[in-house]
Amino acid sequence: MAVKKRCIRCLKVLRPDGTCQYPKCVLYVPELLAENSDEGTENKGSDTTTEQP
Ligand SMILES: [Zn+2]
Repeated sequence: MAVKKRCIRCLKVLRPDGTCQYPKCVLYVPELLAENSDEGTENKGSDTTTEQP
């Protein structure tokens, strides 16, 4: 169960660090550290929300 946070403005799924990734959103934050992020890279292993066993 992966609970994804959504933007309060555009309701798009936020990045793991909580920033909006929708370019037309007012809360959009350009990703400067874009290394291997093409598209469709959502379910990586770095989904550390507040759920720890
Ligand atoms: Zn947004």
